[in-house]
Amino acid sequence: MDFYRTDDLLTEEERLVRDTVRDFAAKRIMPHIADWFEAGTLPQDLAPELGRLGLLGMHLTGYGCAGMGAIAYGVACRELEAADSGLRSLVSVQGSLAMFPIWKYGSPEQKEEWLPRMAAGEAIGCFGLTEPDHGSDPSSMKTFAQPNDSGWLLSGTKMWITNGSIADIAVIWAGTPDGVRGFLVPRGARGFTSRAIHKKMSLRASVTAELHFDEVKLPADAMLPGVSGLKGPLSCLTEARFGIAWGVLGSARSCLETAVEYARTREQFGKPIGGFQLTQGKLAWMFADLTRAQLLAMHIGRLKEAGPLTPEQVSLAKMANVRTAIDIARQARTILGANGITLEYPVIRHANNLESVLTYEGTEEIHALALGHALTGISAYR
Ligand SMILES: Cc1cc2nc3c(=O)[nH]c(=O)nc-3n(C[C@H](O)[C@H](O)[C@H](O)COP(=O)(O)OP(=O)(O)OC[C@H]3O[C@@H](n4cnc5c(N)ncnc54)[C@H](O)[C@@H]3O)c2cc1C
Repeated sequence: MDFYRTDDLLTEEERLVRDTVRDFAAKRIMPHIADWFEAGTLPQDLAPELGRLGLLGMHLTGYGCAGMGAIAYGVACRELEAADSGLRSLVSVQGSLAMFPIWKYGSPEQKEEWLPRMAAGEAIGCFGLTEPDHGSDPSSMKTFAQPNDSGWLLSGTKMWITNGSIADIAVIWAGTPDGVRGFLVPRGARGFTSRAIHKKMSLRASVTAELHFDEVKLPADAMLPGVSGLKGPLSCLTEARFGIAWGVLGSARSCLETAVEYARTREQFGKPIGGFQLTQGKLAWMFADLTRAQLLAMHIGRLKEAGPLTPEQVSLAKMANVRTAIDIARQARTILGANGITLEYPVIRHANNLESVLTYEGTEEIHALALGHALTGISAYR
């Protein structure tokens, strides 16, 4: 499925990451993932295993993090998501949304306290930005931290938070009299409650939760000192979206591989359905689209290793690659006919998961608006 041999450009270390994660996914995830998806669970003991593989905060340096490059991180996301987007989401949220803000904006004490345990998978983190009434527009958030003599009083609700109800530490973005700031809220803080969200039809092998803060007393040093304003959470999202642009290559590849294999062996009208021109046309376009997405991911990986990417560069890659992946998944589903709707094959699981990936970390529409703004100079958000 790697037509232009982008993997030939990987370094030895990056290939080792690829092969290690593939092997882990094949042995530890694939035999169980359909059952986990059906049951709506992802075993928590996977986190220390991912930590031992060096995958948690792998693109960060120090504090027990692996200190790898952007492409190695991307390749790991790709191979994890080839198993399931929920598994990749666990790693993305932990590394890019929970560890990254602590690593980048935390005090030395906050880093020492949390990062080594998070890198080892002994402590799980989550990232709370979205609220029930404020998703695409986080600037309107209502969660507020009021300063007082002993520190802060945090009140509000966060919604759709990955790992929210299992997190040991929640990175919560809240308004303050001086603008939006990040706060580290440990599990068990009085007034902090969580509720797992059920009845999801997508990302079922992933914990999603609502978090409620009822006048939670936080010490003064609970605030991340290094950033103020929405650029704090948005910079974390830029990190994580890079991983998504790579990750969805994995789900798309899994769908295409499954569709090709099915088309070669499933017979109708006396011959394999892969022998019909309509099926071949579908497969050819799926292959062309995946190939373009691979080249895009590799290129932004190289750009990121040479220097920071702009948020718009990441928006384009997230928007385009997720759209490509979801289109491939839907086409693959048609090729599998009725078998395309069962968990006996990975296709419907990937297709359903990608509906969440299309929405989280900026919807397709919001990324289109970011690019429209960059192209025209005119903001069309409001
Ligand atoms: C499984 C899952 C996990 C998630 N994990 C996290 C997490 O860990 N942390 C976190 O903080 N959030 C998380 N989210 C929340 C996610 O980021 C939001 O769902 C997303 O930002 C969209 O917000 P919304 O759902 O409120 O939709 P809305 O903002 O209400 O948007 C609804 C629709 O309106 C469109 N729209 C909105 N504004 C405009 C506009 N100006 N122009 C045109 N169209 C517009 C949107 O594109 C969308 O199609 C998660 C979501 C899911 C589904």
